[in-house]
Amino acid sequence: MFLPQEVIRKKRDGKVLDAEEIRAFVRGITDGSVSEGQIAAFAMAVYFRGMTMEERIALTLAMRDSGDVLSWDDLDLPGPIFDKHSTGGVGDVVSLMLGPMAAACGGYVPMISGRGLGHTGGTLDKFESIPGYNTAPDNDLLRKVIREVGVAIIGQTGSLAPADKRFYSIRDVTATVESIPLITASILSKKLAAGLQSLVMDVKAGSGAFMPTEELSEELARSIASVANGAGCPTTVLITDMNQVLASSAGNAVEVREAVRYLTGEERNPRLHEVTMALTAEMLLLGGLAKDLEEARQKLQEVLDNGKAAEKFGEMVAALGGPADFVERYDDYLEKAPIVRPIYAEGKGIVRAMDTRAIGMAVVAMKGGRTRPTDAIDHAVGFSDFIALGERADGERPLAVAHVRSEEQFAEAQRRLREAIVLGEEAPDLPPMIHKRITPEDL
Ligand code: URA
Repeated sequence: MFLPQEVIRKKRDGKVLDAEEIRAFVRGITDGSVSEGQIAAFAMAVYFRGMTMEERIALTLAMRDSGDVLSWDDLDLPGPIFDKHSTGGVGDVVSLMLGPMAAACGGYVPMISGRGLGHTGGTLDKFESIPGYNTAPDNDLLRKVIREVGVAIIGQTGSLAPADKRFYSIRDVTATVESIPLITASILSKKLAAGLQSLVMDVKAGSGAFMPTEELSEELARSIASVANGAGCPTTVLITDMNQVLASSAGNAVEVREAVRYLTGEERNPRLHEVTMALTAEMLLLGGLAKDLEEARQKLQEVLDNGKAAEKFGEMVAALGGPADFVERYDDYLEKAPIVRPIYAEGKGIVRAMDTRAIGMAVVAMKGGRTRPTDAIDHAVGFSDFIALGERADGERPLAVAHVRSEEQFAEAQRRLREAIVLGEEAPDLPPMIHKRITPEDL
C-alpha cells in the first residue's frame, strides 16, 4: 500500500526513490489524497537531499502524465513539432519572433507560454496587449491554427500537468522553489505535455536571471538537458546572457511593438537578434530542417528578409481572433501610456553594469507585472529605447524612455532606473550573448 509518509521519510533520509513511489506520490498530488503538508514536507526533503537523474526523469514523466498530453500524430504534419522555453528574463521577447520564424521554415510550434514570474516578463501577458487575441483557444481551434499557420502561442490550460500547478503553488509558499530537481521537473512536465518531438531550452545567466549565480544556471542547464533527453525529447540547451535587458524595451505592449518591428526589419536590436537567431537555428537543426547551424541561419535570414516570418506572425494573430492587419497597423492597436518621456542619468558616463532584476521590478512597480497571481496588469507601461552595456549616457542619450500613467510613476521609474544602472569612466568587458551550448551529443 502507498503511504505518502514513507516516501517522504525515505527521501528525508537521503535514499533514492523508485519510479513507482514517485508516480504514486504524484497521483496523490493530482487527486488530492496527499495533503498539502505532505507535499510541503516532500518538497523540503528533495530541497535538502536532491534527486538522481533517474528520479528527476520519473518525476517529470509522472507530472507530465498527470493531465492531458497533446498528440499531433493524427494531423500528419509534414514538419517537426518543436518549441523553445526560457527560464525567463527582462526584455526577453524572443518567443514572439522565434515561433513565426520557425513556422516560416516549415516547423510546427505549439507554444504553451506562461505569465510573468517575479521580475521576469511573461509571453502570455505580452500577447494580451493585442486586442481580440485569444490566449485560451479550445483544442479544436489550437489544432486548426497549428495545422494551417504552423504556430500558436497560447496560455496553459488547467488540464496540462495539473500536478505541477498544485505542487508549484505549495513550493511557492514553503521556500522550496529553488530546488534544481523540482524546477527541472516543473518546467519539463509542462513542455513535454505539449507533445513535442524536440525542444530548445534557453537558461539565462546574469543579473536578471532566475538562478542567482552562473554556476547554478549551469547546473540547471545540465539538469534540464539530461532529464529532457532522458525522457525521450531531444533537447539542446543554450545558456544566454541576462546581464542587461535583452531587447530595447521591457514591458508588454512595448515589447510586442519591438517584436513586430524586428520581424518587419524596421528595428533589430543586435543582442536580441543574436539570441533569437541562435535559439531558432538550434530548433531547425534538432528538427531536421537544416543540416547544420550555418544552413539554419541562412534559412532564418531568408524568412526575415522575404517577409514570410512577419506574415506568419500576422496569420497567427488573425487566426486567434486579433486584428487581420496587426502587422501593418500595430501602432494603432497597441495601447499607449499617456506619458512617454526619457529618463536621463544624474551624471554622465559609460554603462558598466545593470541590475537587470531591479529593472524588471521597476516594470512590476508600474503595474506592468504582478506581485500577486490575481493582479491585473497594465499593458501600456514599461520602458523603451534602453541603453546598452558599454554605451555612454549623457544629456543626449537617456538611460531609457519611460511609458507611464502618472508623474508619480515617472518619478519612481526614474529613481529605480538610476539606481539600477551603474556608470563609470571605463568601458566594461562585454559578456558574450551565448555563454554555453549543451547538445544531446554532449551528454
Ligand atoms: N518555472 C516553472 O515553471 N517552474 C519552476 O519550478 C520554476 C520556474
